[in-house]
Formats: sequence, structure tokens, C-alpha cells
Amino acid sequence: SSEKDAALSAAAPTADDAPTIFDKIINKEIPSKVVYEDAKALAFRDISPQAPTHIIIIPKVKDGLTRLAKAEERHIQVLGYLMYIAKVIAKQEGLEDGYRVVINDGPSGCQSVYHLHVHLLGGRQMNWPPG
Ligand code: IMP
Repeated sequence: SSEKDAALSAAAPTADDAPTIFDKIINKEIPSKVVYEDAKALAFRDISPQAPTHIIIIPKVKDGLTRLAKAEERHIQVLGYLMYIAKVIAKQEGLEDGYRVVINDGPSGCQSVYHLHVHLLGGRQMNWPPG
């Protein structure tokens, strides 16, 4: 019914803010190999690395940013910050020949965790186009 649809869409913001496994990593409820941490961001090694260096960089406060498609003007600063942190970590990891930074968005983008994150991949020759 349209009433039910309205109720479901009203519930959507709550579902958006549902915790993911990344909240457990932020709260140290599950272990992770942290490579960088500050007040705003956390970076840790991907559990299923697709390159010799594969790091996930996340904002500590999700603020509705489940995926890039949900970005609003208030997120501009954190989005830029994640890019900058990617560069800091790439340098820390010794990726002086280059690397790849990826954001997967939604089902077609192959996103699996709905807490926006940046993948930093390096340590091997990347190919284009990606799969
Ligand atoms: P997505 O597919 O772009 O959403 O990326 C999610 C990434 O998180 C994948 O590359 C997963 O391997 C990674 N991942 C999922 N759970 C964990 C974990 O517990 N620790 C570290 N990485 C994880």
C-alpha cells in the first residue's frame, strides 16, 4: 500500500545508519590491522586483499554516508579528507610508483559494506579497465 511505502521510506534513514562491520572495527570490537588513525578517519588492511597493499579508509562518523550516492554538501570536507589520507598512507606504504584509489558505489559498483570507504590498492601493476 502507499501508506506502507510511506512508512518504509520514513524508516529508510534509520536503516541507512544501521551499523556495519566497520563500526565494530572503529569500536575495536573486532580486530583489524590499523595502518592509520586520527580523530576523523581510520584505515586498516583489507581482509581479502586484491593487491600486495590493499587498505580501506573510512570516516569514523558515517553521518548518513552509506555510499557515495548519498553524498550531500555537508560531506564535501570528509570526502576530500579521505582522498588526502589516501595519499598520506600511500606514501607511508612506499607506493612511490603509483597506486589506485577506488570507491565502489551500490550494487552495480560492487559495494558490499554500506559505510562509505576508499580502497587504496598498490604494490603491483594495476590494469585498466578494471573488472
Ligand atoms: P566494498 O566491496 O567496496 O564495499 O568493500 C568492502 C571491503 O571491505 C572488501 O574489500 C572486504 O574485503 C573488506 N572487508 C569486509 N570485512 C572486513 C573486515 O572485517 N576487515 C577488513 N576488511 C574487511
